[in-house]
Amino acid sequence: MHEMAITQSILDISKKVGEEHGAKRIKEVRIKVGEYSGVVPQCVRYYFDVISKGTICEGAVLNIMKLPVKIYCNNCNEEFEISRYHVKCPKCAGTDIKMTQGREFYIESLEVE
Ligand SMILES: [Zn+2]
Repeated sequence: MHEMAITQSILDISKKVGEEHGAKRIKEVRIKVGEYSGVVPQCVRYYFDVISKGTICEGAVLNIMKLPVKIYCNNCNEEFEISRYHVKCPKCAGTDIKMTQGREFYIESLEVE
């Protein structure tokens, strides 16, 4: 994923929601990022600081929460939390799995003033 484009969409959504609520300023943006989404939080923070200048989002805190990778093993019929570097079942080492969490990237909530 491309951090600049992602950050732009965060800013656009935050601005739109803030304006709809008649906010003077966005204080905090809470974002959930899956460990497997490929999004680098440091890059998003950096770009956000740059592109939010002069908008109601300037100075907003980006609260980025990471979601661990979870898989469901079709062989064990169980769900596991795994390391993003070892995408296989930790119990049977099988690869007949599906990822149930880890690719997310979304704004959970905004705090406005
Ligand atoms: Zn398994």
